Amino acid sequence: MTRKTKILCTLGPATQSPEIITKLIEKGADIIRLNMSHASHEWVRTVYGHIRTASDNLGKEVAILMDLTGPSIRTGDLEKPWMLKPGDRVEFLTKPEAKPALPYSTTVNYADLGTDLKKGDTILIDGGMIQIKATEISPFRVVGDVMTQGEMKSRRHINLPGVPVRLPPLTQKDYVDLDLGVELGVDFFALSFAREPGHVQHLQLLLEQKGSKARVIAKIENQQALENLDALVEASAGIMVARGDLGSECPIEELPLIQRRIVERCSYHGRKVIVATQMLESMIENPVPTRAEVTDIFNAVIEQVDCVMLSGETSVGRYPIKCVEVLDTVISRIEQKYPAGRFASDAPLKTNKHKTVKSAIVLANSIPNAKLMVFTLRGVMAHLLAHQRPEFAPILALTPNRHVSRTLTTARGVHPFVMDFSPGNPDATIKDALKLLRVRGIVKSGDPIVILSDALYNDINMDAILLMEA
Ligand code: PEP
Repeated sequence: MTRKTKILCTLGPATQSPEIITKLIEKGADIIRLNMSHASHEWVRTVYGHIRTASDNLGKEVAILMDLTGPSIRTGDLEKPWMLKPGDRVEFLTKPEAKPALPYSTTVNYADLGTDLKKGDTILIDGGMIQIKATEISPFRVVGDVMTQGEMKSRRHINLPGVPVRLPPLTQKDYVDLDLGVELGVDFFALSFAREPGHVQHLQLLLEQKGSKARVIAKIENQQALENLDALVEASAGIMVARGDLGSECPIEELPLIQRRIVERCSYHGRKVIVATQMLESMIENPVPTRAEVTDIFNAVIEQVDCVMLSGETSVGRYPIKCVEVLDTVISRIEQKYPAGRFASDAPLKTNKHKTVKSAIVLANSIPNAKLMVFTLRGVMAHLLAHQRPEFAPILALTPNRHVSRTLTTARGVHPFVMDFSPGNPDATIKDALKLLRVRGIVKSGDPIVILSDALYNDINMDAILLMEA
């Protein structure tokens, strides 16, 4: 209950049973990710039900994020894997009917490959496991020299570092997956390879037209996205620092600096930020983390990110529950030592609402052991509080709306609770909230509480800060 940084777990074969899902949530998972690159619709329907049931049984809100595959450049089918070595030449054909001219020849699903690439550009296959330098380029055929040894299998992912690509924001598969997510009622969609704000706006509009309240998290995966970073952050509900693809698309020594920059821009614009990939990679096989992984977690926590994400660790790893326990323990220890994190929020106080929120934080900071309690209908006030990163007080968010409470599980330091408000009767609403939180063991008599709300007095459109003892 005291941990501020949230834990996002990707489900997969290692974590699909109702028992394991319940354990993940019990041990600390706040958000569950369904990765559509590796999920059938039947599987998604089944685990979706398990997640919602486990969350209801445990009385703990959990957000569900559907991660859309997005457009990705892939090689074609091979008869058998190739063992490539430096000096080998590989041919990429963008027309399926084209005749191979080299022994190592594959089709590619991106028609503009020969137009976008220049001689000397790098083609990375399988997350950079195989590096190829483009040497011959024509509109429908690219040939390259292999630079590093590696085994190439069918339908491998291709990265083109520094090359602006003209892929659409969503594929046919994404549109079909999206309809499933809307039908089930997922809380967030992650947009892979978001490169321009228009991509995010397109998906958000589509969701609204389909009657979904889900918000879009843009995954920053390449240099094109970094060039448009501020506009992408502003267009999205939040950003995922997709370190897997970023680590292939950008020089690896830039990756920590890129992470820092994205976190800063999200903090500035008041958007949530998720740090993803290889947080506990070694725990896919081992029951303990490496020293470097623990230090990577430290870095994310001290930067005050909203969430850290587990991918293979929980989807296919041998120790999924242990991974959540390790994250929970390590994060809690770091936050205990550095409750105020590393950076004060320098986000501009754009509106009176921002200033009211800031005042509530200043008040809470001046009272030892104070808790912030926020009454929120759409989640706006609670998100504003989280984005201003209160140094000490936990944020107890009360809302009558279940979807809002789920979205708040992703916000740093926010603990959401669902309860009915008494319209026109703020005193009754506050009393009911205190009762609920006392019963749950979250507040006790005498605790100093700073109340913040734009929902208690909405008849007269009043934002309020109140101070009381529980
Ligand atoms: C990543 O690249 O780090 C990432 C999270 O994306 P995906 O796992 O979908 O490739």
